[in-house]
Amino acid sequence: MKTLLHICCAPCSIACIESLRAEGIEPTGFWYNPNIHPMTEYKMRKNTLVEYAKTIGLRLEIENEYGLRRFIEGIYPDFDHRCGFCYRLRMEETARFAAENGFDSFLTTLLISPYQNHELLIRTGREAAKKYQVEFLYRDFRPVFRQGQEKARELGLYLQKYCGCVFSEEDRYRKRPKKPKPPCGE
Ligand code: SF4
Repeated sequence: MKTLLHICCAPCSIACIESLRAEGIEPTGFWYNPNIHPMTEYKMRKNTLVEYAKTIGLRLEIENEYGLRRFIEGIYPDFDHRCGFCYRLRMEETARFAAENGFDSFLTTLLISPYQNHELLIRTGREAAKKYQVEFLYRDFRPVFRQGQEKARELGLYLQKYCGCVFSEEDRYRKRPKKPKPPCGE
């Protein structure tokens, strides 16, 4: 099966790739994350993934458009409900790329994070699959989340401190609610 794995960051990708390989699936990684701000952070996460991919022999496809304006336009003006658009933008781009480049299926490393809206991710993935006529290969990677993060620390990979968008960066410094939403990669 030819599978495209959308990757939000290198640390989250570790256990997802290991799990898929254990199943006999060799994924191709796909970088498309216009949600990450500022650009220095975007470059840091992207470069970390590029370097990590080399060490594990992972094929990588990079969407070179940064996409800042597309992201901001999409979340405006309902900034507090931005994650739905953020998921859709990335899932649809992954599904489109998969369909146009001969992949049978796609999925995302966001499925590993216990801090993301897992049900919404599944729904969004299925909708994108229907739109582009390519299978959404659902996997619940959450049980191996900690394991992957531990490995990222051992490898000395860059670990981000917030999910990605400027609002999640702001949240870092706000008074913490009872159940804060940490970065997708932690
Ligand atoms: S908090 Fe994370 S998932 Fe939500 S919009 Fe920001 S970057 Fe996207």
